[in-house]
Amino acid sequence: MGPRWRRRLFVRTLVLGAVGAGLWARLGWRGRAETQPDIKNVRGDSMAAAEAKEAGRGELEAARPEASEARRVSKTLRPEEQHWVGDGFFVSTLFSPFQIDPQTISPFILLDHAAPKYFSPSLSRRGVGEHPHRGFETVTFAYSGEVSHRDSGGGGGTIGSGDVQWMTAGAGVVHEELHSQAFSERGGTFEMVQLWVNLPARLKLTQPRYQGLVGKTFPELKLGAATARLVAGSLGSLRGPAQTHTPITVFNLRFDADGESRFELPRDHTLLILGRSGSLSAGDATAGPSNLLVFERGGDGSGDVVLRGKAATEALVLSGEPLNEPVVAHGPFVMNTRTEIMTAIHDYQSGRMGRL
Ligand code: MN
Repeated sequence: MGPRWRRRLFVRTLVLGAVGAGLWARLGWRGRAETQPDIKNVRGDSMAAAEAKEAGRGELEAARPEASEARRVSKTLRPEEQHWVGDGFFVSTLFSPFQIDPQTISPFILLDHAAPKYFSPSLSRRGVGEHPHRGFETVTFAYSGEVSHRDSGGGGGTIGSGDVQWMTAGAGVVHEELHSQAFSERGGTFEMVQLWVNLPARLKLTQPRYQGLVGKTFPELKLGAATARLVAGSLGSLRGPAQTHTPITVFNLRFDADGESRFELPRDHTLLILGRSGSLSAGDATAGPSNLLVFERGGDGSGDVVLRGKAATEALVLSGEPLNEPVVAHGPFVMNTRTEIMTAIHDYQSGRMGRL
């Protein structure tokens, strides 16, 4: 190992030390709306039946599942270990650039699920202290408990159950992610998800942006036995409130009853479905809590996604257009080349990403 490598390792140790527990990210910021996702058709059973009738087909035929058309699951990820991120987030990492070929999940980079866990009341706030990010977005979904965020660009806020923070780190931010003061004092069950969304090369250094999205504003759509709550992108005629830089559709799905849920998403987009509670299946693949279904990708147009679940099963659906660009990830930075990573480390250490 040459001196150059040693120096890199030393720098890496410095950065990771500063980052605390390491490669986590989260939170949103302020920049500019770019591409809006395409409009996709979504069909609940009733809509499919209505369409079939219109086409002159019988109800029996309309009720038959189009199993041969449905998108298939290529693999199911079931992480066996949980680990702490800071002292506030006990997570299963479904994927990260260090565990999976980043091209297979692009434009997504990392997914952590902090499954429901009880925290006793505390005078101090648990979480992750000051650390940087550059080159991508961190998206935090609060399901139970509250997360507070504060960043060097002046962005910040607290999200509670059902809310989402969508932070574009872009050119660089320094931020902290902590349990809220109120939640820390009263304690309780905490559940959240953090997703990293990559930015295309032309937007790696875009202006940071923070979007605090309130769950009550998410459009709801009945999809067979389940209800979708749309965070980003389009589903049927509905559009989620999050602004994204590339075509992405994200929604929460909850089964109201035992049964089937069916919707359409672009076949050439990555499709990942995280099981949060209960159990859902697609074809022969089944996902329990903290399991991830990775779907096959390829082909033209929209493809049916058919899920079966029991009442109260909850899932997070992530669909996005692959970027098809090199991914070089290093701790809290995700760029296209090693040189850009070295620049990011230098810029952070010299204070160019700001301070809290
Ligand atoms: Mn972070």
